[in-house]
Amino acid sequence: MTAPLAAAPAAEAIQKPPRGAGEKPSLVGLSRAGIGAELAAIGVEPKQIRMRTAQIWNWIYARGVTDFGDMLNVSKDMRATLADAFTLARPEIVAEQVSEDGTRKWLMRFPPRGAGRPVEIETVYIPEIGRGTLCVSSQVGCTLTCSFCHTGTQKLVRNLTAEEIVGQILVARDRLGDFPDKSTPVGAAVPSEGRLVSNIVMMGMGEPLYNFDNVKEALLIASDGEGLSLSKRRITLSTSGVVPMIPRAGEEIGSMLAISLHAVRDDLRDILVPLNKKYPIAELLDACRAYPGLSNARRITFEYVMLKDINDSAADARELVRLLRGIPAKINLIPFNPWPGVNYQCSDWETIEAFSDIVNRAGYASPIRTPRGRDILAACGQLKSESERMRARERLALEAMMADSED
Ligand code: SF4
Repeated sequence: MTAPLAAAPAAEAIQKPPRGAGEKPSLVGLSRAGIGAELAAIGVEPKQIRMRTAQIWNWIYARGVTDFGDMLNVSKDMRATLADAFTLARPEIVAEQVSEDGTRKWLMRFPPRGAGRPVEIETVYIPEIGRGTLCVSSQVGCTLTCSFCHTGTQKLVRNLTAEEIVGQILVARDRLGDFPDKSTPVGAAVPSEGRLVSNIVMMGMGEPLYNFDNVKEALLIASDGEGLSLSKRRITLSTSGVVPMIPRAGEEIGSMLAISLHAVRDDLRDILVPLNKKYPIAELLDACRAYPGLSNARRITFEYVMLKDINDSAADARELVRLLRGIPAKINLIPFNPWPGVNYQCSDWETIEAFSDIVNRAGYASPIRTPRGRDILAACGQLKSESERMRARERLALEAMMADSED
C-alpha cells in the first residue's frame, strides 16, 4: 500500500451537523450500538437492549415501517415510549420526476442542521432489465469543481448525515414498493424480477470520501444482512480520487470502488478534476493497485466521460490501457451529458466506439453507458439541487434591492 492511512486534512474534516432545537432524534442511520445507546438513555433495561435493538432494526430496515405503532412484536407501552422519544420520519420529498425512459429523480429536503436553511439533494433511480440502481448523494453540493459536472457548480452547503444517506434508500424503496406489504406504482419501470433497488452507487451529489464517517455508517447499514441486506458487491463508492481515504474505504466499508478518472494526462486531469493537482494520476493508481480485496472478480470501475476533442483520441485510449496495466479494471465510457451553460460537447458516437474498441482489445470491459434520464437532468454529472438555485435567486433580489437604493 503506497498511500498513507492518514486522516483527511482539515479542509476535508468530517462534520456532524447539529440537530435543530425541538427535533426528535431519529433511530434511522444509527448503528446497532447507537440504537442501544439511545434506548439506554430513555431507560430501557440493559438486559432488554439487545433484543429491542434487533426488533427495531428489523422493523425499520427489513419491513420499512415509519411508525413505532406498527412494531407489533414490541409491547404497547414500549411503542408509546419510543414514539415520544424518537422519530422514524422519512425525508420530505419536494418533487418526483419520471423520465421517458423510466428513470426517476427525487428532490428531497432535509433540515438545516447548521446550514442556515433547509437543504435539498437529488437521488436517482435507474431501472434496467436485471437490476435497479439507486444513485445516492453524500453531500449538499460539492467542494470539488470538476469542470464537466453540474453538481460541481454548486458550492458545498453541508455533509449529509448517515440518517440522510440511508433515508434516500428508504424513500426509494417506499416509492417503488420495495418493502413487504407495499405495492409498486402502476406503470413504474422496475426490474421484472428480484429486488427493485438491487444496487447502490454513491455517485450522486458530493464526494463521498469527504464525508467518510457518515458514508461508512450508512453503507454498513445498507449491507447489513438483517436489514436492507444489499451485498457489498452491489454497492459502489465512487470517488474523484481522495487518495488518503481509499485504503480506509476498502478496509472499513469493503464496497466496490469506482474512480472518476476522465483523463490520462495530469495537465488535462488538473482541469477536468482539479483534485488531481493534490493527488495526481500516478498516486491515485497506486492507491487503486493496493485496494483491499482487488481481484478479477472484484474489479475497480474507472469512469471516463467522453468529451469531444478533449480526451477522446485513440492516443488517449492507448494511454489509458497503459496506465491501468496490472489493475483488475472495467472502464465505463460515459457520453457527456450537457447541462445549461457548459462549454463541453459529447464525443461523436464513432469516436466513442473507436475508443471503446481499443480499450476492449486490450482485455478490459469498456461498456458505453447509455445516457439515462437526460430529459429530467438526472443523468451523470447533471444533478444540482435548489439549495444553490435559491441562493442565486436571492442574490439577484438583493442586487435589485441595492440597485433600487442607489437610485
Ligand atoms: S464529479 Fe463528483 S466530485 Fe466532481 S464536482 Fe461533480 S459531484 Fe463533485
